Amino acid sequence: MKSKAVRIDRHGGPEELKIVEVEVGDPGPGEIRIRHKAVGLNFIDTYQRSGLYPFAMPLQLGMEASGVVEAVGEGVTHLKAGDRAAYASPPPGSYCELRVMPAKTVCRLPDAISFETGAAMMLKGLTTQYLLRRTLPAEGLQPGDFIVFHAAAGGVGLIACQWAKALGLQLIGTAGTDAKCQLALAHGAAHAINYSKENFAERVKEITGGKGVKVVYDSVGKDTFEGSLACLRPFGLLAVFGNGSGPVSAFNLGLLAKGSYYVTRPTLFTHIATRETTQAMADELFAIVESGAVKIPIDQRYPLEDVQQAHRDLEARKTTGCTILTL
Ligand code: NDP
Repeated sequence: MKSKAVRIDRHGGPEELKIVEVEVGDPGPGEIRIRHKAVGLNFIDTYQRSGLYPFAMPLQLGMEASGVVEAVGEGVTHLKAGDRAAYASPPPGSYCELRVMPAKTVCRLPDAISFETGAAMMLKGLTTQYLLRRTLPAEGLQPGDFIVFHAAAGGVGLIACQWAKALGLQLIGTAGTDAKCQLALAHGAAHAINYSKENFAERVKEITGGKGVKVVYDSVGKDTFEGSLACLRPFGLLAVFGNGSGPVSAFNLGLLAKGSYYVTRPTLFTHIATRETTQAMADELFAIVESGAVKIPIDQRYPLEDVQQAHRDLEARKTTGCTILTL
């Protein structure tokens, strides 16, 4: 069988993204073949394209999609042909119509959740789940606690605004424009700071009456790292989970001594290393989406053929919420 796919032959800019035709075979043990209905776009795709996260070439990009299972390999028991399904993978390869992939991270998609929503929410929603529910300071987050969430109007950000509100947390969101700040507030952020114009650490201290916050979730990285530490209360946790502005390189551990702070660099792929954990996390995500407390905001759609433009817009901070590639 043939499938259209997006591939790079070397790391580089969006111009390296090429539409090709690939041959797709039958699933081996532990694998499925899935025909996609929609594909999710994620910032991590840009790291894998640019080489910030290096891969062997050629590389078929993409970490998220939804579709219908066509065939299952030996040993796969949680899925069968005909099932609606969605996933956040490794390995990369979701930018295509049809693929064979490991079944481990693929979950059945509840009938009440559309294919587009499924494609947009798996990587970003499972990330929000582990950040808010599995990456906590020692005593846990309690209703009423303040947290800071950077890039709050982005894909992960708008899901986090809603999920934090549902948990009773006071999320202080940051974003690069006033319009994006309004969007974060409309999705449940308690406060929003335009970090292009304002010193966000000073504003966070004002909002919290000088106390600081329990956790800062920082996907911006290089540009926000030191300011994020300055937002913490004593014993607070900084979770650096992305590199929007570039990676955080070596830093002086002495910075943590200002408040006995903790720093972690978590990734979804450690959390979804087993089928059982992946399913438990996905069940929580499906439940909160089905309850209506979290709505998945799909703010951009691009045909798969326009993937270069999709990458350009994402990296130029032109997008809000989630983006999907349509087939
Ligand atoms: P977003 O939709 O949030 O897009 C990234 C946003 O980062 C931009 O819209 C922009 O918002 C902000 N940003 C700040 N500085 C820059 C910069 N210099 N260049 C580009 N963007 C910048 O993307 P996703 O929702 O896909 O992902 C959000 C982040 O979470 C990414 O950093 C991603 O790598 C990370 N992530 C990490 C995971 C993990 O497990 N570790 C899993 C999933 C995502 P603004 O204009 O408001 O500043």
